[in-house]
Amino acid sequence: MNFELDKIIRPNIRNIKPYSSARDEYTGAASVLLDANENSFGSVGSGNKNRYPDPHQNILKQKIGEFKNIAPDNIFLGNGSDEAIDLIFRAFCVPGKDKAIIMPPTYGMYKVSADINDVGIVESPLVEGFKTDLQATLSLIGKNTKLIFICSPNNPSANCFKENEIMPILENFNGIVVVDEAYIDFADSPSWITQLEKYPNLVVLQTFSKAWGLANIRLGMAFASKEICKILDNIKPPYNINGHTQEVGLKALQNTDDYNKMLRDILKERNILETELNKLDFVQKVFPSDANFVLAKFNEPKRVYNFLVGENIIVRDRSTQHLCEGCLRITVGTKEENAVLVSALKKFNELNN
Ligand SMILES: *Cc1c(COP(=O)(O)O)cnc(C)c1O
Repeated sequence: MNFELDKIIRPNIRNIKPYSSARDEYTGAASVLLDANENSFGSVGSGNKNRYPDPHQNILKQKIGEFKNIAPDNIFLGNGSDEAIDLIFRAFCVPGKDKAIIMPPTYGMYKVSADINDVGIVESPLVEGFKTDLQATLSLIGKNTKLIFICSPNNPSANCFKENEIMPILENFNGIVVVDEAYIDFADSPSWITQLEKYPNLVVLQTFSKAWGLANIRLGMAFASKEICKILDNIKPPYNINGHTQEVGLKALQNTDDYNKMLRDILKERNILETELNKLDFVQKVFPSDANFVLAKFNEPKRVYNFLVGENIIVRDRSTQHLCEGCLRITVGTKEENAVLVSALKKFNELNN
């Protein structure tokens, strides 16, 4: 590997002077704060929201660091991991020139974010069994390829990629490899965050939206070298993580027993859902899952989808995606929700026999 961060960053970002907020210029513990044009009288509607939040999220990063066993300097926090994805494009890709490789079928935001930033997408489709095609991926790397996105566990196929499907990319690509681990909490495989020291070109994304059950507060994490985290910090909107989100995130990290229990419950329900789906003879295949959803292949996915809509149950039709012919993606619900789904599927089966 011959990775040089300075060569990968967009030239206009390399030497950018970030916005300096009032609280950056004064960080002591003064009692009369008249420096930020906040409303000194209070807040309308709810109490104590008149002060700007910590733009560096220091306490939250420290607590995340303790939980993940990683230094706060190696953490960037985004308004959802979707913001981190957008900022990665903006930090590394020159619009109209640079390119990113994705591996369909995969998470839709990589392409949307690339399109918004006028960055070309090069596809290296997964092959049978939802495996990466290493040879093809490496051969698609061109001189303007700056990013490679690997979603593991992958959405919508629900599988983790093996170490030997990702490592050669990290070792042979001199750009940034983004490993999106939004669903890693549900997986048997370990996170790639332990490999950050070895791979200065690695960015690992995680989120509070799935296993922590906090999609509403928009809190995503990127783990990377401190140089990369610094670049992302320099270009983010100064107060991208609002005060409420920081508070709720901290509260979550004080309740890790709840997190662990919820994880166990979801995994248990995933198991039951897989078993029940496998019993239905119009389900051709239930793909193994390392996530909080299952991908299942149906004889007539559109009819099943429409029937479920009629029963007020919404799943995700993925049947037009590469390698996903006939497939619906089903999020693991509560015990009750899964039971409702399974009995609706049985009803569909009876009506069609
Ligand atoms: C759900 C999901 C995310 C999470 O995005 P947030 O913006 O953090 O809510 C990221 N990546 C993938 C692949 C996802 O499925």
